[in-house]
Amino acid sequence: MIIVMKKGAAPKEGRAVIGRIKELGYTPHPIHGKERTVIGAIGDERGKFVLQTLESLPGVERVVPILKPYKLASREVKPERTVVRIAPGVAVGGHRLLVIAGPCSVESEQQMISTALAVKLAGAHVLRGGAWKPRTSPYAFQGLELKGLKILRKAGDRAEMPVITEVMNPQDVEAIAEYSDVLQVGARNVQNFTLLKRIGKSKRPILLKRGMMTTITEFLMSAEYCLSEGSRQVILCERGIRTFEDSTRNTLDLSAIPVLRERTHLPVVVDPSHATGVAAYVPPMSCAAVAAGADGLMIEVHPTPEKALSDGPQSLTFEKFADMMAIVRPFVEAAGRAL
Ligand code: PEP
Ligand code: MN
Repeated sequence: MIIVMKKGAAPKEGRAVIGRIKELGYTPHPIHGKERTVIGAIGDERGKFVLQTLESLPGVERVVPILKPYKLASREVKPERTVVRIAPGVAVGGHRLLVIAGPCSVESEQQMISTALAVKLAGAHVLRGGAWKPRTSPYAFQGLELKGLKILRKAGDRAEMPVITEVMNPQDVEAIAEYSDVLQVGARNVQNFTLLKRIGKSKRPILLKRGMMTTITEFLMSAEYCLSEGSRQVILCERGIRTFEDSTRNTLDLSAIPVLRERTHLPVVVDPSHATGVAAYVPPMSCAAVAAGADGLMIEVHPTPEKALSDGPQSLTFEKFADMMAIVRPFVEAAGRAL
């Protein structure tokens, strides 16, 4: 249920509602909007009608059911778009398009520092690099783990960029959160509910990738897991879904962008690198994503893609990445945003 407070309701009236929600055995989630406060009351759906009694409390305008299965993620609860702040001056969901760039995997200090400086110069805002890698084959490069994480941080600091890396294991959340500004949940873990609950308790922003077989509703339910644990900083990432088409690695579901923007207040980032699997298709699909309303892009960049230990074929060289930024710019401006 959503408890909509009256415009100008006193803070103490809000606190009284929160107290009553708790007494009734529900968890209150206050959301302070520009005009008014709404309080989500989340809990057992079966007894929700007792919440209707809150309508008689001072300061309450009305109590309405949340129709969607995802609650805190829905625009019913929060019509205003969420801006996720990643670092001072770096945010996603607002006017500026966020660009995340870097290699698939952290391989060496030299590779990361050169990439960080190159992508920063070309206009990227966040540095990516996988330290724990979810690989299809157990014989493929599995990542440098903690050593890789420390290299990523060092490269980010050198280029003065916040960093993002994937967390695969719930036990690693705290340690990774010490080094990484954003915690990424990969496509293969989008329904690892233990991980989602654990990561939802972290103070760090979360980038949640859509699974290759998850529907948009399931994707939003995964975001709901993080939000229900207290996180307010979830970024959604469309990275292609599996279809019958095999000319590309996955099929970029461009229509997921307007659908998500209609259903949720959370920012939407697109990863055309994993979606297409082919470097040459990354710039056109980046333009398409921006035109469709994406709040950001995540792009794989490597100093020597032919030598990359993972995802070389879809990685852009420094030069190609800089070219791509120039190609995307008019689309960003046409979408009413800035780079
Ligand atoms: C990645 O971003 O490196 C990655 C493994 O992506 P995905 O989880 O989308 O496959
Ligand atoms: Mn990759």
